[in-house]
Amino acid sequence: MKSFLILIAFSFCFFLVNAQDPAVIIKKLDDDKARFTEIAATIWKWAEPGYLENKTTALLQENLKKEGFTIETGIAGIPTAFVASYGSGKPVIGILAEMDALPGLSQQPTPDRNAVEENGYGHGCGHNLFGAGSLAAAVAVKNWMESNKIKGTIKLYGTPAEEGAGGGKTYLVRAGVFNEVDAVLHWHPGDNNSASPSSTLAYKVANFRFKGIAAHAAAAPEKGRSALDGVEAMNFMVNLMREHVSQETRIHYVIKKGGVTSNIVPDFAEVEFTIRHPSVAGLNDIWDRLVKTSEAAAMGTGTTVSHEVMTGLYNTLPNETLAKLMQKNLEKVGGIQYTNEETLFAEQIRKTVASTSLPSIASAGEVKPYALNGLTSASTDVGDVSWVVPTAGLSTATWVPGIPAHSWQAVACDGMSIGFKGMMVAAKTIALTAADIFLKPQIIEPATVELKKARGGDGFVYKSLAGDRKPPLDYRK
Ligand SMILES: [Zn+2]
Repeated sequence: MKSFLILIAFSFCFFLVNAQDPAVIIKKLDDDKARFTEIAATIWKWAEPGYLENKTTALLQENLKKEGFTIETGIAGIPTAFVASYGSGKPVIGILAEMDALPGLSQQPTPDRNAVEENGYGHGCGHNLFGAGSLAAAVAVKNWMESNKIKGTIKLYGTPAEEGAGGGKTYLVRAGVFNEVDAVLHWHPGDNNSASPSSTLAYKVANFRFKGIAAHAAAAPEKGRSALDGVEAMNFMVNLMREHVSQETRIHYVIKKGGVTSNIVPDFAEVEFTIRHPSVAGLNDIWDRLVKTSEAAAMGTGTTVSHEVMTGLYNTLPNETLAKLMQKNLEKVGGIQYTNEETLFAEQIRKTVASTSLPSIASAGEVKPYALNGLTSASTDVGDVSWVVPTAGLSTATWVPGIPAHSWQAVACDGMSIGFKGMMVAAKTIALTAADIFLKPQIIEPATVELKKARGGDGFVYKSLAGDRKPPLDYRK
């Protein structure tokens, strides 16, 4: 009798372990691939600009609602931002979903340059895949939680306007929407499969506006003061400053307005500056020097200047505790294999890239080994999230190896089968990682200790680098 009871108990435990086995998540996502591919392809066609992702956000929300998520929309004063929640109590795991496209990159899913619409928007950073892939992950985790009665909350954050001066997530973090979250998972399209923890550059962008006095450029130049001179003097000083900043610093500018016609002394000119640096402290230091160059330029040219910070982003704090878990799951899922047709597409599109040393096409099928201390010379508003919640991300080979982000080639890959395959690798990896955390929530403690240490102790208070300005909802209008 005793051994019979033990046998019953053993079989019951075995059943429970099997039912909770996250491997069922992979199968479910394979079964649902067509549904999420269709959503990614639809968002790719719409290619909506930052803060104007109206159809995209509605499509994502509609799918989440159908799955039983509760939706809060228009969060942080951003009409296209939302948070969808399922479940209750701790742990709370957040997944990020980006959705905005880029100007000027309209492109068909072909290996040669073919715009759908001249100068139109295109998904050159693959945020159509980011949005639909994260949706797939959240839905898969929810189904798994539901059928196994898993305790906790899964949240999908619809995060608009990542590109340019959008900085959507900085306003979401500022509004406190991540305050109750224990771990955040995200991903990004790329040309390789990697879950190694890496940082990004802190970033700040502002418009400097010079005002002068208009006058006839030939008949009365002594009566005019050129606002364009102010811009040029500032640019000259900043270009000298480049020699006296640390190696990893990035400084870029464009003159947005330089006057109307050369026979009138320009009374208005505007220059946009972006500064990037590996640390927020370093960024702030260079920023103060940048503002001084604008004041000096105005003083020397008899003009006046003011500036408006458009957005500011933190560097990303890698979280090794979560990254190792993500790596384990990415290795389990593996890279992507091309069909003969996809290999042909890859060979053709690689010929259009201006570089002679490209990684092999076969590398799309591999997972990069875990490595530490990577730094990407770009910036993301995920950085702000990573300072308030332990955060881990991965990239997958949605782009043919060697294809850079923000290119028409990336848009082409994001709208065809190679991109969709990479998206499913990300969806599976994120879903498996979330499931692992739900099954072993004790990992949150070391992840949080690591975050606190990386922030420099207990005294950290998040302060947005965008200051108290409102989200620039019209920056793409
Ligand atoms: Zn991106």
